[in-house]
Amino acid sequence: MTQFVDSHCHIDGPEYDADRSEVIARAREAGVATMLNVGTGDPQSGAFERAVELAEKHPEIYAAVGVHPHDAKLFDETSARRLAALVRGNDRVVAWGEIGFDYHYDHSPREVQREVFQRQLRLARELGLPVVIHSRAADDDTIRILREELSDYGPAAVMHCFGGSLQMAREALDLGFYISFAGNLTFKKAEDLRDIARQLPLDRLLVETDCPYLTPVPFRGRRNEPARVVETARCLATLHRREAEEVGRITSENFARLFGVP
Ligand SMILES: [Zn+2]
Ligand SMILES: [Zn+2]
Repeated sequence: MTQFVDSHCHIDGPEYDADRSEVIARAREAGVATMLNVGTGDPQSGAFERAVELAEKHPEIYAAVGVHPHDAKLFDETSARRLAALVRGNDRVVAWGEIGFDYHYDHSPREVQREVFQRQLRLARELGLPVVIHSRAADDDTIRILREELSDYGPAAVMHCFGGSLQMAREALDLGFYISFAGNLTFKKAEDLRDIARQLPLDRLLVETDCPYLTPVPFRGRRNEPARVVETARCLATLHRREAEEVGRITSENFARLFGVP
């Protein structure tokens, strides 16, 4: 059976409390063999503990922990210790993130976003974890800080839900990073993004849902879920003139290489 990976989902959230086990079962039926569930929220709220528990319960789900730029104002040294403790000695937590810049919403002051991003990149380095990067409307600042902090970083990183320029994608690839595309790749108006995706090497690409958001065509308007990552893989396959199965296999191999999982 064809295998796909959802490299970035949020199924630990309340959106799935009513039917989480059905969502996971539907992913399995669709061939989505592996998921990375990214914890988000207030680091003192227990949200990250919940994300890790979900991964401990399900062999096909891994966890990432890290404070989102929206919540950067809530980050402090207590939360750093609390999250680092979740990582140490737990092989279900395979990445630090999502961290970065969000200048579209600016839920935290930019200066705070920068400090917290840098602090967490250093934490990820100390822990030897690959990093999940969120960057929205902040191409230049993101690349600048990544060049400063993660040049020649073996565990590497992924630019999740990529929406930057071709130049940014190339600079990320030069740093040894991966690029992950979400359901917005399939949107009617995303011709520019598809043009970029077409020019990037498949062996450095991942696909994701970022669910519950960004439901791909033809399911737009409904809640998203990991099974839908197949639509984004299909879109990427068309752009590269491959079969969806092949893109599923290649992106699954990329995921395993980046996150060090079987
Ligand atoms: Zn994100
Ligand atoms: Zn996310």
